[in-house]
Amino acid sequence: MGLCEKQLTCSLDRGSSWEDPRSRSTQRRCPRRHRALSALTLAMRSVFAARRAVLVFAVLFAASLPALPWVLSLVYPLAAAAVMPALPEENVRVTIAFIGDVIPHERLVDSARVARTRPGDGENPRGGTAAAAYDFTPILRHVAPYLRAADYAVANLETPLAGPESGYTGFPLFNAPLELALALRQAGIDLCTTANNHCLDRGWSGLVATIDRLAQAGLAHVGTNRSLTESQTPLVVDLKGVHVGFLAYTETLNGHSPPRERGTYAVNRLDVDRVASDAALARLLGAEIVVALVHWGDEYQRQPHARQIAVTRALLESEAVLSRGVDVIIGHHSHVVQPIARVGGLAGGPGKYVAYSLGNFLSNQPWRYSDSGLIAYLHLEKSGFRARVTGLSYLPVYVQRDVSRFPTRYRALPVLPGRETLSDLPLSRAQRARLTQIPAELDPLLFRPEEGVQPLDPSALGLSETPAR
Ligand SMILES: [Zn+2]
Repeated sequence: MGLCEKQLTCSLDRGSSWEDPRSRSTQRRCPRRHRALSALTLAMRSVFAARRAVLVFAVLFAASLPALPWVLSLVYPLAAAAVMPALPEENVRVTIAFIGDVIPHERLVDSARVARTRPGDGENPRGGTAAAAYDFTPILRHVAPYLRAADYAVANLETPLAGPESGYTGFPLFNAPLELALALRQAGIDLCTTANNHCLDRGWSGLVATIDRLAQAGLAHVGTNRSLTESQTPLVVDLKGVHVGFLAYTETLNGHSPPRERGTYAVNRLDVDRVASDAALARLLGAEIVVALVHWGDEYQRQPHARQIAVTRALLESEAVLSRGVDVIIGHHSHVVQPIARVGGLAGGPGKYVAYSLGNFLSNQPWRYSDSGLIAYLHLEKSGFRARVTGLSYLPVYVQRDVSRFPTRYRALPVLPGRETLSDLPLSRAQRARLTQIPAELDPLLFRPEEGVQPLDPSALGLSETPAR
C-alpha cells in the first residue's frame, strides 16, 4: 500500500527527516488521522470502480438492444398463453343490424288477424297462448334473412304490448299483440328499445306488461325499466368476444308521465350527462363499444334539427370525459330517413357514427318518405384487445301494401339498388316505380363511402343478392 497524498504533503510541510517516506518507520510516524483519510480514499476508488463497471454494463446493454425485441418475442407468447388463453388469433368481425320504427297502426294489426285457435292445439304456428289470434310472420318473411344474417339485431318497438284486455289499438294510444314480438324474434330481432313517446300509452301497467311480454317472446329490452335496479344496469352483450353496450333514451313522452314514485327510473329520458354516466358504467361492466338508441327529433323532417346535432356532438366528441361518451348513435322517431354521418372521434382513430333516424320499418304510413326506412348495419372489428367501429352500411326497406283484398296485406321488402325487388304479393306499377325511386332519394342523405357509410353488400353477411325466402 502506498502513502496517501495527504501523508506526503504533511511530511514536506513539516520538513521532517523522512528520507525514505515509504519506509515502515516513517509510516508509523504519520499521524493517525491520515490513516482515516486513506480509508476514505480507498472507498472513493471503489466507487469509481463501480461506476466504471456500470458504464461498461450500459455500453454492453446498448449494444444488445437490437436483439431485445427478439428476446421479448420469445417471452411474450409464453406470458400471453399463460395469462390470456382466450385472446383471439385473428380479427373478429361483428355486424349489428338496426331497424327503424315498428309502429303497428290499427289497420296493420288487423291485417295480421288469423283464425283463433285453442291454446296449444298446434294449428297456429304461433299457437300456445289464449291470445294467439295474430300472425305477423308473413309480413316479415322477405326481410327476415337480412336480419338473421347479422350477429345481433335491434328494433325500435313503438307500442306497448299491454295485453288483450284493453283491446289492440293504433294511433294515438297504441297497443299491439304479443304475436308482434314473437314475429320480430322469429325474423331475427334480439333486442327492442322501448324508450319512445308511446311507451306510456297504456300507463305504468302497460309499460311493465310490455317488458314482461318481450321477455316471454325471447327478446331483450332497453330504455324502460320496472325497477331502479333495472334502470341502473346497462345492457352489455357479448358478441363473438366483442362486448357491446346498448343504452336507450327518449326525448318525449307525448305528455304522459310515469307515476310519481317511479318517475326516477321508469323511462330513460334523453340527457347528455345521464348518457355519459351510463356509458361510463357500461364500460366499467366491460363494454368496448357503446351504442345509444335515441328517440328524438321532429316527425316527418328529413334533416336533423339543431338540438339533435348539438346532442350528437356532446355525446360523440366528449373525448375529455372518462366515459369517452358513446361510439354510435342510432336514432328513431321522425318516420322518415335522416342522414347517417361519421362524426368527431380522434383523427385517425376509430370511427364514431350517427344515424339520425332510420325511418319506418313497419307502419301504415303509405306516403312518400314514410313508406320506407332503413336497416342500418354497424360493422365492428376486434384485433387483440382493441375493438373499433369500421363503418355503417344500410339497406332500404319498403312497406308494401296490397289493398286489392280485404283486409289489406303488408310486406316489409328489402330494396337492393339495381335489383328487382321481389314479393309474394303482386306489386303494382306505382309500387315498382317507388322501389326504383327509394335508393335514389336516399343517396344524398346517406352515401358517404369515404366515411365508411355505404349501401350494404349482401355478400358481406354471407347472403346472396336474392336470399332464400
Ligand atoms: Zn316516436
